Amino acid sequence: MDLENFIRDIKDFPKEGIVFKDITPLLKDAEALKNTKEALLELLQGQKIDKIVGIESRGFFFATLLAQELNAGFIPVRKPGKLPYDRISESYELEYGTDALEMHADAIQKGDRVLIHDDVLATGGTAEAVCKLVERLGGEIVQCNFLIELGFLNGRERLPGKDVKALLTY
Ligand code: IMP
Repeated sequence: MDLENFIRDIKDFPKEGIVFKDITPLLKDAEALKNTKEALLELLQGQKIDKIVGIESRGFFFATLLAQELNAGFIPVRKPGKLPYDRISESYELEYGTDALEMHADAIQKGDRVLIHDDVLATGGTAEAVCKLVERLGGEIVQCNFLIELGFLNGRERLPGKDVKALLTY
């Protein structure tokens, strides 16, 4: 099954000049959803995982599905002000200004083997900030995986030394 057929390009979303990769056609197709989950699992090649960190919000879908398959826990990373308990925070650069991401301070135990998952790797700023959150809590990052890598933005250069994998690269 060619998963690429389930990714829709949306021109000028969320603003002019951007071509947005829309994964909702893939999510709504039962077979594509299942095949994508299985392909992401294969990227791990049987490595043991304790916690899967999903990045708000499109990272949550597959992070939770993978957590079930791997018998691992799920950890949400969220935008500021959304998580109710004690948090740690990392800010990162945007094209204009900065943003931040947060994780609960008790989300990860020292030595936990962690998989970080998101739908798209673009410039890598988001994933880089999430790696910092995980490492501040003593987690060991086994892999960062994505449905889609926008290779022309060189996001993986911001994740040196990490095992960075994606199902589809543009
Ligand atoms: P980065 O920090 O530039 O790598 O951007 C990655 C974040 O932006 C991820 O959380 C993605 O969900 C989101 N993102 C960037 N481009 C796209 C896209 O084309 N489709 C869906 N999400 C995107």
